[in-house]
Amino acid sequence: MVDTEIHDIVLVGAGIVSATLGTLIATLQPDWRITVLERLGEPGNESSHAWNNAGTGHAGLCEFNYTPRGSDGTVDATGAVRIGEQYLTSLCFWAELVAQGQLGDPGDFIRSTPHLGLGRGTDGVAYLRARHAALREHPLFADLEISADRSRLEAWLPLVLRGRDEREPIAVTRSRQGTDVDFGVLTRRLLAALQRRGVAVRTHHEVRSLRRGQGRWEIGVRDRRADRVETLRSRFVFVGAGGATLPLLQGAGVPEVRGLGAFPISGRFLRASRPALVAEHPAKLYGHAAPGAPSISVPHLDRRVVAGREHLLFGPFAAFSPRFLKRGRHTDLVRSIRPDNLPTLLATARDNPSLLAYLVRQLTQSSAARLAALREFVPTAQEADWKLITAGQRVQTLRTVAGRGTMVGFGAEQLITEDATLAALLGASPGASASASAMVAVLAGCFPDRMPAWESRLRTLAPNASELLATGQAIDRLAHARRTLGLDPLISRS
Ligand SMILES: Cc1cc2nc3c(=O)[nH]c(=O)nc-3n(C[C@H](O)[C@H](O)[C@H](O)COP(=O)(O)OP(=O)(O)OC[C@H]3O[C@@H](n4cnc5c(N)ncnc54)[C@H](O)[C@@H]3O)c2cc1C
Repeated sequence: MVDTEIHDIVLVGAGIVSATLGTLIATLQPDWRITVLERLGEPGNESSHAWNNAGTGHAGLCEFNYTPRGSDGTVDATGAVRIGEQYLTSLCFWAELVAQGQLGDPGDFIRSTPHLGLGRGTDGVAYLRARHAALREHPLFADLEISADRSRLEAWLPLVLRGRDEREPIAVTRSRQGTDVDFGVLTRRLLAALQRRGVAVRTHHEVRSLRRGQGRWEIGVRDRRADRVETLRSRFVFVGAGGATLPLLQGAGVPEVRGLGAFPISGRFLRASRPALVAEHPAKLYGHAAPGAPSISVPHLDRRVVAGREHLLFGPFAAFSPRFLKRGRHTDLVRSIRPDNLPTLLATARDNPSLLAYLVRQLTQSSAARLAALREFVPTAQEADWKLITAGQRVQTLRTVAGRGTMVGFGAEQLITEDATLAALLGASPGASASASAMVAVLAGCFPDRMPAWESRLRTLAPNASELLATGQAIDRLAHARRTLGLDPLISRS
């Protein structure tokens, strides 16, 4: 069956990323015909679902992977500033939609949760001090405090300090600007608002093929409930299929993905829900990744609120599944291997022995070893309180860089075809936190001729944080967004 109408925009996948792009386009160009195709029965149920990610509003406030240390001991703050700026755009975007009455009560998907960084041992404490020094002058990090005072740390992190060896050198940074986000609820609210504006969101519809037709994309879709196949035609396609993005692009013959490989790593967490325990950790606390471990494995202990209930989450631990989606197929990995990317896969295995060793250690890890890792954060942890849960699939992009096989670490990148009729987001993280600025970049890359007309609306909807900082408006806009989202405390100029 061929749908004879030509769509302006087809969004493949109903996760946070497609929902964000759809919202931007529907606002900027309400006369365009937009359709969202989702293989599952409900939007936001893969990586964007609350239990499939850690819910951290990544802003660079506490995650050490954004602030590497150089050989001279100084810390490079560039990555933290970049993600801090991207998150500012996301906050402004969500706040604007809340102000328009499109997202309901923001307390259902975002709440203030202090972000803390833990430096352990003499070296860890020295790193934390250097990190604090590198960030504290920047306006987005103005409230970042540091302390090594035990009584202060006990007030900030009672659960983490209880039972800890007093001789262990530790220091902690804290920002009260941090957030915990339920990206699943946010995705569903964005898509419900889009449906109210006439956008078609077709669940149970799986995209099976993408083919270039005459000046159009032909999209082969299977209705999984009715077991019926149809073809849609669209001027523009965005592939926001999470882990399934690369195979769809491979099938479409997109030359930009030639040579790229993909490797799935499942995230697992320990979860505790006993109220007395949860009450003792009102924060997200990030530490150092283990030697040789990829940056996505930075351990953290998080207060989470999901469906109105409070929990603690510790991890991530890595596991292996050959699926590219949590509810994907066992054959996903094998089917993604092709003559053009086999050398990249082999080179990645050859050139990253410490990464491989880390993965093998993780895969063979016993529950006792996981408890030992948890006790580094919670010395008094009891196994009975903690349950192992499987979160989402991270499909890491592999590429050959300067002859070496490389696993692209923390970071998602936009891919735009040469003719700008198809775009996609590749890479696993921090796609959710950075979704607004990433999708503005997709708009700029794919619709350059429309940008002058959209510019002024975009300044309100999803402002560019670098421009706000350069013109001295960033802190006022951030304060306004935080107030609208019900976040506390408000950041001030001083
Ligand atoms: C363990 C873990 C922890 C994370 N922690 C954080 C965090 O703390 N903060 C943060 O910002 N980010 C975090 N992330 C990353 C974040 O979850 C993702 O970047 C984000 O959810 C990706 O959104 P998406 O819309 O691209 O993909 P998804 O949410 O996975 O959505 C893709 C959608 O496409 C659908 N789909 C797939 N194939 C097809 C097809 N062929 N046809 C139709 N539909 C299809 C899927 O069913 C799915 O609904 C984490 C990820 C993991 C795995």
